[in-house]
Amino acid sequence: MVSRRTLRDLPELELRERRALVRVDYNVPLAPDGAVGDPGRVEATVPTLRYLLEVEARPILLSHLGRPGGAPDPRCSLAPVVPVLSQAAGAPVRFAGPADSEEALQASRDLPAGSILLLENTRFLAGETRNDEELSRRFARLGDLFVQDAFGSTHRAHASTVGVARFLRPAVAGLLVEAELRALDALLGEVERPFVVAFGGAKIADKIEVLEGLAHRADAILVGGAMANTFLAARGVGLGRSMVEEESLDVARDLLARWEPRTRLPTDLLAGDAEAGGRDPVVVPADAVPEDRAALDIGPRTRETYAELVRQGRTFFWNGPMGLFEHEAYAEGTRTVARAAAEATLSGAFTVVGGGDSARAVREAGLSASVSHVSTGGGAALEYLARGSLPGVDALDPAS
Ligand code: ADP
Ligand code: MG
Repeated sequence: MVSRRTLRDLPELELRERRALVRVDYNVPLAPDGAVGDPGRVEATVPTLRYLLEVEARPILLSHLGRPGGAPDPRCSLAPVVPVLSQAAGAPVRFAGPADSEEALQASRDLPAGSILLLENTRFLAGETRNDEELSRRFARLGDLFVQDAFGSTHRAHASTVGVARFLRPAVAGLLVEAELRALDALLGEVERPFVVAFGGAKIADKIEVLEGLAHRADAILVGGAMANTFLAARGVGLGRSMVEEESLDVARDLLARWEPRTRLPTDLLAGDAEAGGRDPVVVPADAVPEDRAALDIGPRTRETYAELVRQGRTFFWNGPMGLFEHEAYAEGTRTVARAAAEATLSGAFTVVGGGDSARAVREAGLSASVSHVSTGGGAALEYLARGSLPGVDALDPAS
């Protein structure tokens, strides 16, 4: 059971015909032509929206998109989301804005049963990221209850994610947030062992807290991606032109000292020609990256070792791709770990992938449904795992 009251805890009678103000995270990538590049975050909210429509509540949605900086910016309009949302939810969608206007308030009152109202980007409003009280009150007028379903934004204390809940009750978790918390709570509690974690991606500095928190409970820690470069460099290995986070070398040295011998670093790497934008990959031992090359993926031997350890795990958490997976030549390390996670899941392991790029890599490998849980929120998932709390969740009614 999650620690907050959820949508499903509310009696259906209390929802019927009520305006449910739902904070969603439709911060979707937009293609150059302005269309929605990836509808994943919209689709993730469909269970909550269908639930609300079925009990005859009226969903009114708030979201941000991009970083317009507190003023209207047509490039960050939520308008392109309307057709995608309508298609995904199977319901007509009305669009109004600005979200703090009388027009939006009137639209919330006029919304017919069976329809959804999407309001314009909350970050067009100056008070949003300041968690402004007056703006929070204005948002609160838009609904008769508040539903938090923007998991990917729950680590931000903004007016639409936290402030609004001070003035609008009940304030409950939506079905997406509930599912996310349930999956992550399972990692925070007693886990089945071996507990294997894999870390990759680019930045240690951003992830240090969660690395610490999970690693001291893990049985095996597999490090890949540019993160592995920093760890290797901390051991004094030369890495040619590879991406190394110089300012994290001390931290990496300290972590290695404490995590040995459970930590695995790559024994071989795929190194590309740094000048030619990473072309011409060659396999090299991890301590022999040529001066003019950059390590861009884990090598074949490391792939096999990591895959075997992942398959042996009963619990698995993964954040950060094993290489520059956006380039086909350097995608195999990430794909191998994704496949191993899917195999582990099939044999009964509990497997969670968290992180924007990590989730994308698993999705592109066609394996999203083959692991136990893929988090829709990178930063939020990591923050929850590190601290056990999130501002946008703490703001909700406690579970009774
Ligand atoms: P997530 O979004 O899953 O938390 P990060 O944002 O930390 O992951 O890292 C993902 C990025 O790291 C990707 O763009 C990937 O190409 C890059 N990356 C991974 N390994 C390397 C590497 N060896 N060299 C350069 N970039 C890398
Ligand atoms: Mg990322």
